[in-house]
Amino acid sequence: MWKWLIFALAAYALYRLFTNDWKKSQAREEDEKTKHERMVASGEMVKDPVCGAYIAVDSSITVRDGETVYRFCSYDCRDTFVRRIQQSRQKTELPPDHKA
Ligand SMILES: [Zn+2]
Repeated sequence: MWKWLIFALAAYALYRLFTNDWKKSQAREEDEKTKHERMVASGEMVKDPVCGAYIAVDSSITVRDGETVYRFCSYDCRDTFVRRIQQSRQKTELPPDHKA
């Protein structure tokens, strides 16, 4: 009698383990889709303005431009961004006839 009870419990535990894993893996798939959106919404992740990658706020490479802080996935992206800012500033700050 006890044997069967233990067997039933073990089978039930295995069954729960299996179904939980299956549910978890389904939830994980769902999570991956919305993870970035949720983390962006909660301010944990930001989008790299150069390549569009998502990076964690606390592990990112930053550039401060006045009041705005930009974050980047790599120093390459940061350099590209800084160059773009400098180029656009030069264009707007110089008088139009200075280009020629
Ligand atoms: Zn990047």
